[in-house]
Amino acid sequence: KTRILTGITTSGTPHLGNYVGAVRPAVAASKAPDVESFYFLADLHALIKVQDPARVQRSTLEIAATWLACGLDPGQVWFYRQSDVPEITELTWMLTCVAGKGILNRAHAYKAAVDRNRADGEDDDAGINAGLFMYPVLMSADILLFNADKVPVGRDQVQHIEMARDFGQRFNHLYGEPAGKQYFRLPEAAIEENVATLPGLDGRKMSKSYDNTIPLFAPRATLRKLIASIVTDSRAPGEPKDADDSNVFQLYQAFASADETAAMRREFEQGIGWGDAKQRLFERIDSEVAPLRERYETLMAEPQKIERLLRDGAQRLREAHAQPLLRELRAAVGLRDLS
Ligand code: ATP
Repeated sequence: KTRILTGITTSGTPHLGNYVGAVRPAVAASKAPDVESFYFLADLHALIKVQDPARVQRSTLEIAATWLACGLDPGQVWFYRQSDVPEITELTWMLTCVAGKGILNRAHAYKAAVDRNRADGEDDDAGINAGLFMYPVLMSADILLFNADKVPVGRDQVQHIEMARDFGQRFNHLYGEPAGKQYFRLPEAAIEENVATLPGLDGRKMSKSYDNTIPLFAPRATLRKLIASIVTDSRAPGEPKDADDSNVFQLYQAFASADETAAMRREFEQGIGWGDAKQRLFERIDSEVAPLRERYETLMAEPQKIERLLRDGAQRLREAHAQPLLRELRAAVGLRDLS
């Protein structure tokens, strides 16, 4: 079976981008017969950006309920919270000690933060925590611990998967070769060509960190209000509009069939007014989301059930995968067997 692994950072309320880019395709892929899926709530990753414990906890619950409401079957897949599996942090340290620092210097997320500092005339590393610098190593541990074959990612994450391959290969080479073993399978990035990156309300990428999101399960009235606030150009009704340049159209396309999208494109050319276009977008999204929203609200009313599911999921996963592998790895590097 091919092992596929997907995580969402517990840094805020899940939004339409998370749904279109991760949850919807991942739940669909998990139904294939030859696939073993791993879904996790990346709360250790959240600490890099969010130093607000209440927000991390609320987000963990919201993202778990989102996966479940969207059809994830916890009896068929591995479903867990990252911090419930301490073997991930232990492996992170082992990988840290084989990872080249120079490679981490070139990681996109870190480089982007340095570039922002330079643009602002600050010192390179001003305000950057070491967690941001080390993030590709934690992500490598997430992947390598479960010998995931495929990690669905956007283009900007491909580099991190290559790092996971590099660290895994170094470990295999250093500790595996003398013992005639390959401890880690090397993962591949599954680039999601057909999955759009959704724009947020302000036109930048929709992201929990930018505060520009449309929450996936916002109440109907809020959904309508947020859609009405998407930035558009000032073209009046009757004036032709450029569909490809429009945030409203991009969002519509992510929820509509090919025929509906083609029809909307014609309406843009014929000068549909922004108010009407937004109303159509609202109706399209709401018709897909409404049944899921109902399930989500039911799930959120019983947080202790979700908590139990997560704990059970992590416990089974530790026994089946994480603990046996860590035992081998501790022996490989020369640490005591804890069992
Ligand atoms: P953060 O700001 O904390 O990084 P985020 O909302 O940008 O959060 P992540 O939690 O890092 O997103 O990503 C979870 C998944 O959602 C990833 O697979 C990512 O590709 C996908 N995703 C995030 N934002 C979008 C978007 N705007 N369009 C499509 N997919 C997205």
